[in-house]
Amino acid sequence: MSLRLATCACGAIRLNVEGDPHVVSMCHCQVCQRRTGSTYSVHAYFSRRCVKIEGSPKTYSRTAESGRAIESYFCPDCGSTMFWGHPLDASQIGIPVGAFADPSFPLPEVSIFMPYKHPWIVVPDGVPTYEGHSPRMSQSGPVVPPLNLRAAS
Ligand SMILES: [Zn+2]
Ligand SMILES: [Zn+2]
Repeated sequence: MSLRLATCACGAIRLNVEGDPHVVSMCHCQVCQRRTGSTYSVHAYFSRRCVKIEGSPKTYSRTAESGRAIESYFCPDCGSTMFWGHPLDASQIGIPVGAFADPSFPLPEVSIFMPYKHPWIVVPDGVPTYEGHSPRMSQSGPVVPPLNLRAAS
């Protein structure tokens, strides 16, 4: 059984995670670009019951284009995003892979919202790509921030 620790930049929020993620995803959507300040995000999805949360994160709630609510949790002191989820499906939790700061973390298995990808970003060989969400992810129920903004055409 794998045990992993994800922490924010200042260490006030700690997530103790048991077991392996059921999917790891690269997301190129513009919500992730703005949320992270980077050009794409990489998230790992776990069953909520495998994650023990220490500390008191703040919440940012928004309604996605799909009408679903999404809640992002971040450190009130250093601002790191620590996890997110869908209030109506509390069984899943998404954790940014960077919070583990572990180069041996499992590789991405899907790459989503490809039309918004910056052209210089290379998706690892063999990773399936999707224009929007991956069917694999919607079947397993995890929450990905959908797109609020259209790509410039
Ligand atoms: Zn912090
Ligand atoms: Zn995204």
